[in-house]
Amino acid sequence: MAEVKKRAFDMVREPGTTKPCLKCKWGIEDPTDPSVGQCTSGRTTEGGVWKRLIHDYYNTTCAKFTEGEVDFRDHV
Ligand code: SF4
Repeated sequence: MAEVKKRAFDMVREPGTTKPCLKCKWGIEDPTDPSVGQCTSGRTTEGGVWKRLIHDYYNTTCAKFTEGEVDFRDHV
């Protein structure tokens, strides 16, 4: 059985962070509860998107934070 390797990174809960998942281009908020979201920066070895749940969308950050381009939101 092939081992699934995922690029690991640690989400950090950092109240008041200036780099929240909210502003990150990888983050998408939950449509029903915007205080939680999902991180879409992960990729499986097959290249698929590996989503991770973000429990506190406004106060979580990580080393992969990338200021978005969140243009898909601008069109909502
Ligand atoms: S890459 Fe990091 S900062 Fe960006 S959404 Fe994912 S966990 Fe949040």
